[in-house]
Amino acid sequence: MTASAATPPAAPAVGLRALLDLAEEARLAGDYRSGSDLARRAFALAQSSGDATGQADALHMLASQLLRLGEYEEAIIACRDAVALLEYTAGDRSVACNVLTVEALALTELGMHEEALEVLSRARQIAHDLADRDLLYWVHNRTGVVHGNMGNHRLSAEYLLRALGMVDGMGDEARFCILNNVGDNAVHRVAELLADGDTTGAEAMLRASTDHVAEALRLARAASHPYRESICLDNFGMLLALAGDHAGAERMIGDALAIAARHGYPSLESSAMQHRAQVRMMRGDCATAITELCEALGRVLEAGEMPVAMEIHRELSAAYEQVGDPASALRHYREYHRLERAAHNELSAARARMAQHHFELDNARLEADNARLETELHRLRTVELEAEKAALQQQATEDPLTGLANRRNAELWLAAVAGAARPLGVAMIDVDLFKTVNDRFGHLVGDRVLQQIAHTLRARVRESDLVARIGGEEFLVGVDGLSLTDATARCELLRAGVAAFDWESLQPGLAVTVSIGLAMVAPGGDLAAAIALADQRLYAAKRQGRNRVEAVFEPRT
Ligand code: GH3
Ligand code: MG
Ligand code: MG
Repeated sequence: MTASAATPPAAPAVGLRALLDLAEEARLAGDYRSGSDLARRAFALAQSSGDATGQADALHMLASQLLRLGEYEEAIIACRDAVALLEYTAGDRSVACNVLTVEALALTELGMHEEALEVLSRARQIAHDLADRDLLYWVHNRTGVVHGNMGNHRLSAEYLLRALGMVDGMGDEARFCILNNVGDNAVHRVAELLADGDTTGAEAMLRASTDHVAEALRLARAASHPYRESICLDNFGMLLALAGDHAGAERMIGDALAIAARHGYPSLESSAMQHRAQVRMMRGDCATAITELCEALGRVLEAGEMPVAMEIHRELSAAYEQVGDPASALRHYREYHRLERAAHNELSAARARMAQHHFELDNARLEADNARLETELHRLRTVELEAEKAALQQQATEDPLTGLANRRNAELWLAAVAGAARPLGVAMIDVDLFKTVNDRFGHLVGDRVLQQIAHTLRARVRESDLVARIGGEEFLVGVDGLSLTDATARCELLRAGVAAFDWESLQPGLAVTVSIGLAMVAPGGDLAAAIALADQRLYAAKRQGRNRVEAVFEPRT
């Protein structure tokens, strides 16, 4: 250790994926405690950055670790949260499928086998939809496990063998898992066959499954995975015992026990003890079996593994009966029944807690939906208000028929420009004999004439000039910074443009002209007086036969 660094090194910023990789490493090494801590950190990180997919991945990882730690309820809740997140974000369905298979295992461990099968049928549906062989393999595998836990070992074997038939080409993890499960199933099946007196069937199954368990053991050792090694040794030992090799069985199970003790897997430890006791019973050493079962019972009770405690009480009861101690046998039998009732109650309570969590999850989802709708509604209202405001603004400044500036806007423009140190030309434009256009062709044509005039005017002035519609068929054009001569020429352009337009194309028989009165405002001149003068000029143009431009300088004040 370096004692006095000048600056302490900052905690490394570990990303979400790196955390998940570390968690997976821990899981593969059987260090589920560290693995679950890392998964929790990953979850917090994903949550803080609002990464829903990351949260789901972290919960999936967490659930896998909790499962091995025997923290089943928490594992189930993590799975359900993950699936909810994935559904809500339309996330990866294959991840959802994997999560469901983990949830099924946790449920079956709690004794909620029917729920586990239900969850697996959802997973199977996804695997089928995605036509994903790997996913289907895990679903079959886990369905086999659940049936085994329900005591349907024959049905369990069907699913497990189906999965075993699919494992070629898959990784060691999948291989180990199925071989181990097949081995575990075989222990039960062989016991059943022997109990039925089918020794031939039992022997055939023993031969096949011993190979599977040996292969699983090899994989567990190759991966340096003590948890798995311990399980395999335990299974292997039980198969040996059923084959009649009690000494070999005790050795194997003893090894399983030692590994479990060394690495701190209390549930594996107690189950190995229980199994070794069973072997001792088989070879008639009931006294040692009883001692071992009692020790296992103590540990199991301490760890709160009530289903196992229940089994051990039943086994103790049988063992005491064999050694001729009916009082102790009865005591353990009663205890077995008491625990069975308690397990029943605990199962109901667990179901209630799960249902409650389900309800809370639904509620949270509903609230999230509501919040989303509120936000959307708020956004729409804002957009609507903005649009209304813009429309009002336009109405206030724009003539709706022609899109030109209206009178109010024209006044603002003129007032702003009149203050500049440049001459300003104000042209008043009136359509000639417009009443007859309306009378002959109707108001609709009249309107289109006004629109066309607006277009013609706008196209013949500069961007910076003003073109406004200030009355029914009256327009105002403001030209900024031109001399009287240039402004007059510009007005002439406007007049000619209107007169030259092909009005026949708009309406046969139609011809339209405009008259224009122009007045100039000198810098600092009187705008109102100039407007009045332009009006006067306009009427002069009308009097002089229309379709003309009349221009004048504003008189000096
Ligand atoms: P002058 O050459 O003397 O200006 O003759 P004029 O017919 O144009 O004169 P007057 O001002 O009497 O007629 C203007 C007509 O413009 C009256 C009105 O019906 C029409 N008008 C005003 N606003 C609109 C409009 O928005 N659309 C239509 N189609 N006609 C309009
Ligand atoms: Mg008029
Ligand atoms: Mg007119």
